[in-house]
Amino acid sequence: MSSASKAGSQIHRPVLLINIGQLLTLRQPNEHGGPRRGRELRELGLIEDAAVLCQGGKVVFVGKSRDALRDPRKKQLKQVIEIDCKSQVVLPGFVDSHTHPAFICPRLGDFEQRISGATYEEIAQAGGGIRSSVEAVRQASRTELSEMILAGFKQMNEQGTTTVEAKSGYGLTVESELKSLAAIRDAAANWPGTVVSTLLGAHAVPREYQGRSSSYVDLVCTEMIPQAARQKLVQFVDVFTDRGAFSVKDTETIFQAAADSGLGVRAHVCQLSEIALEPLLRFDPASFDHLDHVHDQDIAKLARGNTIATLVPGANYFLGLEKFPPARKLIDAGVPVALATDYNPGSSPTPSMPFVLSLACTQMKMLPAEAIVAATINGAWALRLEKRKGSIEAGKDADLAVFEVEDYRELPYWFASSRCAFTVLNGWVMTNASSTEVK
Ligand SMILES: [Zn+2]
Repeated sequence: MSSASKAGSQIHRPVLLINIGQLLTLRQPNEHGGPRRGRELRELGLIEDAAVLCQGGKVVFVGKSRDALRDPRKKQLKQVIEIDCKSQVVLPGFVDSHTHPAFICPRLGDFEQRISGATYEEIAQAGGGIRSSVEAVRQASRTELSEMILAGFKQMNEQGTTTVEAKSGYGLTVESELKSLAAIRDAAANWPGTVVSTLLGAHAVPREYQGRSSSYVDLVCTEMIPQAARQKLVQFVDVFTDRGAFSVKDTETIFQAAADSGLGVRAHVCQLSEIALEPLLRFDPASFDHLDHVHDQDIAKLARGNTIATLVPGANYFLGLEKFPPARKLIDAGVPVALATDYNPGSSPTPSMPFVLSLACTQMKMLPAEAIVAATINGAWALRLEKRKGSIEAGKDADLAVFEVEDYRELPYWFASSRCAFTVLNGWVMTNASSTEVK
């Protein structure tokens, strides 16, 4: 991967991480094979004094340090990079399954208006909000956009993230949505982590379609989705289904178009108001995201399926809301829950999964172990990447995050400070701190 040299200090040789104090393998705790729910969210598969051997971008050995040193594969391999983890914590790289990195400018005016008392919806009605990010994205070149997106991926990676879902959604024309997706693809080609792309043409009705939202839904269905699919630019289609955005009926129409093009679906739901989820379940969404106002009856339905409830408390924090998504209620009912940053310029400008973990613990009463499971293996499920990502097991992708802490509970404990020492992304070692010894 020659382009990966642009992404920082990296080495691609067999890697042995040794003397790991706590290795959180996240290996499957049972036989059923589905996403984690209920008490399974507390199973970290912890091994002390552990080692991980990676080769060819895959994990090949997971176990005790002493066994790794005796492993015949280790002896056969040449030029193994041996990294002494000095009793620190190693876990699967975070899977950030909900981000909006295809933007140009921060929304500082919205920020100030909100501080002065305006709500998210009032700001949108006054010309701020999602639509105010649109002009700059329409005018930007694909290169400018991809540079912004790549900068976002790098910041996420510095915080321990190795897989990112990246949405378009600030162009809202066929041309600028496809440009955004192409820019995501360009950025992904220059980053050694893994990127899953999502078309979010139905993020808001653009100004020129005001009062004719059904014509805009037609444009999304008959042009954006088929073209993005034909050009192989996306895996998923997303819709902002809420009061003031798109209706459930619109969402069904868009999901049907996605299914017709062979794409998976996911939706922003119940952020601002209660939305009936039942009509959308027949499309087997990979995830429903936000869920602040989810109805009890829908919680029971979600508990029976594999659609992941992706909670994004960074948005609640940044919007200054007192209420957070009902994580405890969802988990206790058996709904598989994931955590993500919702990295975006309007409501959650953070690339930090550790900060989201901290919010999950302090504001949504998730235990540290539950937050870690939600940010790794259940995030992988939300992207349908559970066979490759989210746990450290032989045969899976070599995606690891090493934190300069001795106890995994320190990840959400030290908030607003990055303790990620380095990451391994598809076998590439990406160092952050000079303290890391790479021999
Ligand atoms: Zn979002």
